[in-house]
Amino acid sequence: MTQRNAQQIRQLLSELLLGRFDWARYCQPLPSLPNTDILRLDQVHPLLQGNKALKLAGWWQRFEPGTYRKILTFGGCWSNHLHASAAFAYALDIPLTCLVRGYSTVPLTPTLQDCANWGADLVFLNKQEYARRYDSGYQEELAQLHDALVIPEGGAGEAGELACFELARFVQHYDECWLAAGSGTTALGIARGLQALRAKTRLVAVNAVADKGELDSAWQHEMPAGVAWQVIDGALGGFARQTPELQELIERYQALGLPLDRVYTGKLMLAYERAAQGEGKKTLLIHSGGLQGNRSV
Ligand SMILES: *Cc1c(COP(=O)(O)O)cnc(C)c1O
Repeated sequence: MTQRNAQQIRQLLSELLLGRFDWARYCQPLPSLPNTDILRLDQVHPLLQGNKALKLAGWWQRFEPGTYRKILTFGGCWSNHLHASAAFAYALDIPLTCLVRGYSTVPLTPTLQDCANWGADLVFLNKQEYARRYDSGYQEELAQLHDALVIPEGGAGEAGELACFELARFVQHYDECWLAAGSGTTALGIARGLQALRAKTRLVAVNAVADKGELDSAWQHEMPAGVAWQVIDGALGGFARQTPELQELIERYQALGLPLDRVYTGKLMLAYERAAQGEGKKTLLIHSGGLQGNRSV
């Protein structure tokens, strides 16, 4: 990463944090279907892209240099969140430890190699250890031991919602907004923003996780009142599961100049095409990035 890249990333994060980000600049008509725009968050920066930039901008506000020495966070060996966190930490000159699910592989995945190149420490956790990542007692213990700000897997949590809340200002101009969901943090942040604006936009989340309805039932009480929403199961039987139909769709969009990732945005597009729009509703799709993960062939 060059000094120029680091400077651009700092600028991007400040704009997101201060509510000065120009969303419209990254919005374009979808090349395949009418009445549909796509917000190209994959283009906000080549090294820090997608909704992970939004979530980390919010977490940046929680990092008080007098209180914390470093950041600790979690992810798998192809994690978009770890990749983004390492770019973020490099640009802001914050020491980062990545707690990685599984055993060290030789060679490292390209994702983890980038993290290491940008100065992150990689610590591998076995299945039992990694399973404790949601345990608040464990997180507290890690925070104390390392004087660290602990960011949950995926950048989830209230802090991660901040820039997503701001994004609602742009989303409110559409009848519907479709996005891919993992932890659901991005969608919740947008929903809270929509509620604050009293906007009527309906949120449709395509769930990339095969979670047996967990996200849907969590949202029954977490989603703010007055916001219309729907969860569509888009996991194709499992997280990161591939099918020939998905592969065909990704190649088709690649040829139209719209790169999609296989885990999230490809599945979003598959679900959107299946829903056969075109009833005159104005729809916004959010391209949440994740293209670095396509190196896992
Ligand atoms: C992490 C990620 C998501 C899921 O975001 P949540 O806020 O966890 O729902 C969606 N798309 C891409 C490309 C991601 O990397």
